Amino acid sequence: MSEKIQSIPIAKPWMGESEAEAARRAIMSGWVTQGPEVSAFEQDFAAYVGAKYACAVSNCTTALHLALLAVGVQPGDEVITVSHSYIATANSIRYCGAIPLFVDIEPQTYNINPMLIEDVISERTRAILIVHQMGMPCDLKAILDIARSHNLPVIEDAACAIGSEILWDGQWEKIGKPHGDIACFSFHPRKVITTGDGGMLTTNNPEWDKQFRLWRQHGMSVPDTVRHGAKQVIFESYPMLGYNYRMTDIQAAVGREQLKRLPEIVERRRYLAQRYQEMLADVPGLKLPTEPAWAKSNWQSYCVRLPQKSDQRQVMQTMLDAGISTRRGIMCAHREVAYEQETWSCGSEKETCHCRKGTCDRLCESEQAQDHTVLLPLFHQMTQQQQDYVVKVLKTACQV
Ligand SMILES: *Cc1c(COP(=O)(O)O)cnc(C)c1O
Repeated sequence: MSEKIQSIPIAKPWMGESEAEAARRAIMSGWVTQGPEVSAFEQDFAAYVGAKYACAVSNCTTALHLALLAVGVQPGDEVITVSHSYIATANSIRYCGAIPLFVDIEPQTYNINPMLIEDVISERTRAILIVHQMGMPCDLKAILDIARSHNLPVIEDAACAIGSEILWDGQWEKIGKPHGDIACFSFHPRKVITTGDGGMLTTNNPEWDKQFRLWRQHGMSVPDTVRHGAKQVIFESYPMLGYNYRMTDIQAAVGREQLKRLPEIVERRRYLAQRYQEMLADVPGLKLPTEPAWAKSNWQSYCVRLPQKSDQRQVMQTMLDAGISTRRGIMCAHREVAYEQETWSCGSEKETCHCRKGTCDRLCESEQAQDHTVLLPLFHQMTQQQQDYVVKVLKTACQV
């Protein structure tokens, strides 16, 4: 087979007979939403990350919304976060009527720069929402120090970070343990494990966990499982405004099987990422991702910064012509039309900031990262041969 006709996707879920069988099991059981499979998935998930509580919801965006509500984010409040993330991060803040206050990233890890946080904390700040971008853990120690000294809750957008680890008091611990107050995960197919769509909240706070369970099902006072098993008639009530953020049992059954595969998936991704590191080390001008000594990424995405002279679109087109799918670096929410109006802030009071025009002097590293990085294919089933081919084509593309 000629190399030319290869077609290498950017990502591909690793699912098989066991997931199909699990979905079948849920369907044939007659209980297909918010039932026993969801409870079991929550327990398995909590045990995996080492959290006291895990609550399953419809996706990570709804998880983030509930996390922000739980820590008390109200209309008009500010929440410190990054623009350099999938737009769901900032959107979840706006769902609360609050304003995202965007802080720039570190160019090496593509994560929030902890040094810039304290500068923008004000009496309007209600929470800090950090993102473990592309699976790389944030500098949680530094961030928590700042947050604690200002009495601010920290929510972790761990959408991409299932299986990632952080060195904590001499021990490797899973992201989601939780080190902050609440962590939120995604099971979208673009993440490391998937349930089609799906999300999870982890916390050690029993009150918040109780809240999540009410909110995800319209604020209904009695869960279906309790009503179903009761020997006496029970009337439910609705003491608060809730949402429909439920996960189905079909999804949860699949999730339990995916969780069993997770250690193997993470191991394989780390192996392939290490191989990229070695094979791309000598490409002139190409900057590879860095993993701090206290972090172990799950490599949800493998992101390279192109040589100065390279054109991002051109490199990506050259690779696409050779049958290789890539993606540009992580987007910046503040450059999108949905954020053109006064819906966010960078904390600057200076004239020199062009925030409202879609560029911002204070988010320079975020914009640079979006414009000069490319995500390379990385998935469990990827062969060494395919990876060698990606490397070969990328090298050529960078020389043009
Ligand atoms: C994917 C993603 C989300 C949204 O997850 P969904 O499950 O699709 O709602 C949020 N934040 C980040 C950083 C993501 O990558």
